Amino acid sequence: MTNQQHCDIAIVGAGAVGLAAALSLAAAGRQVVLFGQASAPRDGRTVALLDGSWRLLEALGLTETLDAVAAPLAVMRMVDDTGSLFRQPPVEFKAAELGLPAFGWNIENTALVEAMAAKAVAEPRIRMIPQAVTEITAGVDSVRLAGDGFTPVAARLVVGADGRKSRVREAAGITARDWSYPQVALTAILSHRREHQDASTEFHTRSGPCTLVPMSGRRSSLVWLLEPGEAERIAGLDDAAFAREVERRTHSILGALTVAGPRGRVPMGGLSVDRFGAARMALIGEAAHVFPPIGAQGLNLGLRDVAALRDAVAGADDPGADAALAAYDRSRQADVRLRTGAVDALNRTLLTDLLPADLMRGAGLLALSRIAPLRRLVMRQGLAGGTAAG
Ligand SMILES: Cc1cc2nc3c(=O)[nH]c(=O)nc-3n(C[C@H](O)[C@H](O)[C@H](O)COP(=O)(O)OP(=O)(O)OC[C@H]3O[C@@H](n4cnc5c(N)ncnc54)[C@H](O)[C@@H]3O)c2cc1C
Repeated sequence: MTNQQHCDIAIVGAGAVGLAAALSLAAAGRQVVLFGQASAPRDGRTVALLDGSWRLLEALGLTETLDAVAAPLAVMRMVDDTGSLFRQPPVEFKAAELGLPAFGWNIENTALVEAMAAKAVAEPRIRMIPQAVTEITAGVDSVRLAGDGFTPVAARLVVGADGRKSRVREAAGITARDWSYPQVALTAILSHRREHQDASTEFHTRSGPCTLVPMSGRRSSLVWLLEPGEAERIAGLDDAAFAREVERRTHSILGALTVAGPRGRVPMGGLSVDRFGAARMALIGEAAHVFPPIGAQGLNLGLRDVAALRDAVAGADDPGADAALAAYDRSRQADVRLRTGAVDALNRTLLTDLLPADLMRGAGLLALSRIAPLRRLVMRQGLAGGTAAG
């Protein structure tokens, strides 16, 4: 018999979603082993966390630390900048229309992961093993995890929070469909002369959206989807020339811009799975769904996975049993499919210059700008599932 340790729940991947899962399960009274280095690349990426995600973080005792570095998102503005025949006036969604102070809070990815990691280190129910898992073997009663630098662990439930190229997904035999878009996202943190007034502005262009999202102070983060050749050209510019390009693209809405932090670039793709759990393994975050950063959905969806997984397994005698995995799967199918489909459809209407697609998008934006109840409905849908706090 080989030397190995036993545990109830092991999580592979200590990104934002894996850390949130460890903290949530520990708060629900479970002992957890968390594998991987808790770090996020410094690439200028921020995440806009919608109201429900913020409440989940609040329940985990994180918002006191995060408050100091997060910026409220009170207005979301969409501008049709496609040059289409059916171009419509900008649509503004205001949180106040729903009686909310903000749709959510925007925060640097690295700051979020650092705050979560500090909390996880201090939590006695979480054992952190900062090593990569390289071997995953499914068994009847447990799943065996092995790698360099640690004694193998046999867990009754393994949670795959190991991102897009998930080994856990592969070991569970869960089929993934993935695809790519002819787009690269450029990210950056910019300071600017004008106040952003807690508003994000999404310019819909032919290569994809170009969005400025408010940060604390007179700073905003940029997510700019471009055709790969053009993205290479712009990514190659020095900071001053890069800032000028962004200012031109965003019609100087925030005045003169200066690069005020790291810049990054991410090739755009999508991924979806046919089920969220199998063979004592469950998938959360980008291990289960990937799509372009439009409408601030990715991590928010990942945090809803976390809440659903906690609800499905926290009280189970055997957290990896088929019944617990089936409950988790049922609770995630509709939400994830809806978001993946909606983001994909919107992105594709931008990429095409076919008149019917333009007409549909134009009519949709027009309806949203004119019909307040419809706008409120869409805003609620955007926030829907916003009960991640449970
Ligand atoms: C430009 C951009 C902007 C975005 N903006 C938003 C936004 O505003 N709002 C929003 O909600 N979402 C946004 N997203 C999406 C969001 O960033 C992702 O959904 C989120 O970061 C995914 O987190 P994750 O923990 O699932 O995956 P990851 O961050 O990829 O973490 C996976 C972790 O697993 C580790 N790992 C992998 N394999 C192993 C192994 N074998 N052993 C141990 N560890 C392993 C990796 O090292 C990594 O740390 C954006 C995405 C992009 C690209």
